[in-house]
Amino acid sequence: MEYVSTRSRHAVGTSAEAILKGIAPDGGLYMPSDFQSMHVDVKRVLLYSAIELSSTVIGRVFPDFSTKEMRALVERAYQDKFDAADLTPLAHVGDTFVLELFHGPTAAFKDVALSVLPQLIVASREKLAVTDDVVILTATSGDTGKAALEGFRDVPGTRIAVFYPDGGVSDVQRMQMVTQEGGNVLVCAVRGNFDDCQTGVKRIFASDQAEGWAAEKGVRLSSANSINLGRLAPQIAYYFKAYNDLVLTGSVALGEKVNFVVPTGNFGDILAGEFARRMGLPVDRFICASNANNVLTDFIRTGVYDRRRDFLKTISPSMDILISSNLERYLYLLTEGDTDQVAAWMKALSEEGVYSIGEERCAVMQEHFSGYCADDGAAMEVIGRVWNEYNYLIDPHTAVAWSALEQYRTETDDNTPTVVLSTASPYKFCRDVLTAIAGEAPEDGFEAMDKLHALTGVDVPRGLASLRDREVRFADSIAADDMRAYVEDRL
Ligand SMILES: *Cc1c(COP(=O)(O)O)cnc(C)c1O
Repeated sequence: MEYVSTRSRHAVGTSAEAILKGIAPDGGLYMPSDFQSMHVDVKRVLLYSAIELSSTVIGRVFPDFSTKEMRALVERAYQDKFDAADLTPLAHVGDTFVLELFHGPTAAFKDVALSVLPQLIVASREKLAVTDDVVILTATSGDTGKAALEGFRDVPGTRIAVFYPDGGVSDVQRMQMVTQEGGNVLVCAVRGNFDDCQTGVKRIFASDQAEGWAAEKGVRLSSANSINLGRLAPQIAYYFKAYNDLVLTGSVALGEKVNFVVPTGNFGDILAGEFARRMGLPVDRFICASNANNVLTDFIRTGVYDRRRDFLKTISPSMDILISSNLERYLYLLTEGDTDQVAAWMKALSEEGVYSIGEERCAVMQEHFSGYCADDGAAMEVIGRVWNEYNYLIDPHTAVAWSALEQYRTETDDNTPTVVLSTASPYKFCRDVLTAIAGEAPEDGFEAMDKLHALTGVDVPRGLASLRDREVRFADSIAADDMRAYVEDRL
């Protein structure tokens, strides 16, 4: 299989190159060139375990890894890491199914992919006979950083540095990062907001591209960002897994189509669903759920992507995004590989902040995508109501998805069996969740955690329960301008 760039047909590479480089040389995103060869027969994989399913699906996306190689890699990735034997269990709540993606070490769905990515990077490094250590640099608004740290910790041949905004993450999220164990990890607060961290990391990459300083130090810089195909591939597997569970419990007939509701930020998770559909999963529709940063809702309804609006901070911070990077891959699929067109739209987005895909293409998109949004008030109301009605506790990101589904059902009367993707444990956002069900919450995140547990009896994920007693290993706080010097110094 060859991999093409979303922005020019010529830029190609192998699996290993796509994984190790992350982003194509022309600034586009890597795409597999042949979906037909990636077909997965749902009947054949119906009885597969989560691990078998995952290695089969990832193996279809990266066929130049042998079946044996991929199986071993996936086993290593998930071994003893998840507190659910089948990784991503499906819950039945009222007349809706909930795909629980938060049973990994950091209690957020990013664990599913970030457990596998380091193994893919190590294997790619070997395939390409690279001897330099791969150094992962990551800016985080909370969830990605911790999941990446857990994924890369003590993985030979890799090191990782994570930057988070000082005062800009929740108590639980901060403690998760600063207590991180492992001999190859570095965590540092940056005096600024998430954008400052992100810009700082981009500057480090740019300075290396211009000066080549990393190679002189015997390392190669890389990113754990969701634009890496190695992060997308593991996410495709849980759509198949959810479908298997629906069939095996008699909730749908084999071959019957289902809908998925996906709380969306960077468009990575929902794009993995679209990959699954194109690989043969019977899906009718994806409901794209956004918070008050509803640029995608508008896009799906009108075909106009317009980022020229205020960035809003919400209680679902992992969806506070105005530029959904992975949408570029969907545009590539929508235009059937018209890379000139995709490149032109991306140029318009970066220069003018807006582009339009036109009515015809918008109509094609709407055959499989609907867009809805929910603000903080709506999400809080849903958390309280779902708890009261079903004794089921959801986090603010999942609540946005739940609200989107309710709006969709009211508008359409569509009663296709539907799966809501639940992307984080409610205990990652204790204060907001407790406020939603009890009306108030203590200032301190850990006190709120205790109260939430006492009130609901829902288990606290093991990685979060033990946090407050852990030793703080990383107390550095630096100015954004000092990030490069900090990295160079620590290497
Ligand atoms: C990252 C994240 C999302 C958004 O996923 P995308 O792939 O960026 O669309 C949703 N919920 C949670 C909890 C997340 O961490």
